[in-house]
Amino acid sequence: MPELPEVEGVVRALAPIAIGRTIQNVTVSDTVIKSKQLGKEAVIKGITTEDFIVDMAGMTIENVTRRSKYIYFHLMKDGNTCLLVSHLGMTGAWFTVDSVDDITEMKFRNHVHVVFTLEGGGLLVYSDIRRFGELRLLGCEADHPPLLKMAPEPFATGARKHFLEFAAMPKYARKPIKEVIMDGHVLSGCGNIYATEAIYKMKIHPERNTERISLKRKNELFDVIVAILQESIDAGGSSISDYRNINGEAGTMQDRLKMYGRKFCPACGSATESMKIAGRTSVYCPTCQK
Ligand SMILES: [Zn+2]
Repeated sequence: MPELPEVEGVVRALAPIAIGRTIQNVTVSDTVIKSKQLGKEAVIKGITTEDFIVDMAGMTIENVTRRSKYIYFHLMKDGNTCLLVSHLGMTGAWFTVDSVDDITEMKFRNHVHVVFTLEGGGLLVYSDIRRFGELRLLGCEADHPPLLKMAPEPFATGARKHFLEFAAMPKYARKPIKEVIMDGHVLSGCGNIYATEAIYKMKIHPERNTERISLKRKNELFDVIVAILQESIDAGGSSISDYRNINGEAGTMQDRLKMYGRKFCPACGSATESMKIAGRTSVYCPTCQK
């Protein structure tokens, strides 16, 4: 699943191409249309396909930004601003191409679900193999309250204080640390990959209760998470499974991961073990992580 650095990579690639462009029209795949007719809310959330198509036509993309793991398209039409919020789910990907046939990887080309035709030529294409991604058209962030409950950006002033305060609350303090750092209310943008790496670097067992970690060590853990997210942004994110940057480009952070997806600990050579935490497979070194 794309995490903060991967989404940042998409935003940085998309922004210079999309900003200032106006959407002429929108087409939606038969798969999404049929699924929506069955009440399944595939990809396009909170609005009918028909309304989405009508509302999006004529929108000018004023800016493209990231908030946690979401892409925000800041839009303007007839003097009114709105927000298209995109979450990539497991396998969502954006492409900027002249034709859908220009998408070279067949698995993405075969799962194109929304195509925005831009005035003056070119397409902005959303593809999603497993369709767990989301497109949500809002007047503003407050129209979808869960967005307001996200922890501050990890690089923002106040993120550390927020993390330490939330981690000390009874509802989080008694949970495993790995679950807590992956919780978007506590810390923004740290999913399974970077949580696995950060607690490995800190030599903390994924199941250790948060309250059993000292304030000093929690501070260090926060620093480690921020550093690894930044390192990954600089490397263009991790290209794992079906995640791609825009236009199918791949980042290189996966080559630097020390524990995620590993069979042996690079530090001590022990066979790694895994357990499920918060529904996600957690790989760890039983020797180094206590
Ligand atoms: Zn080890």
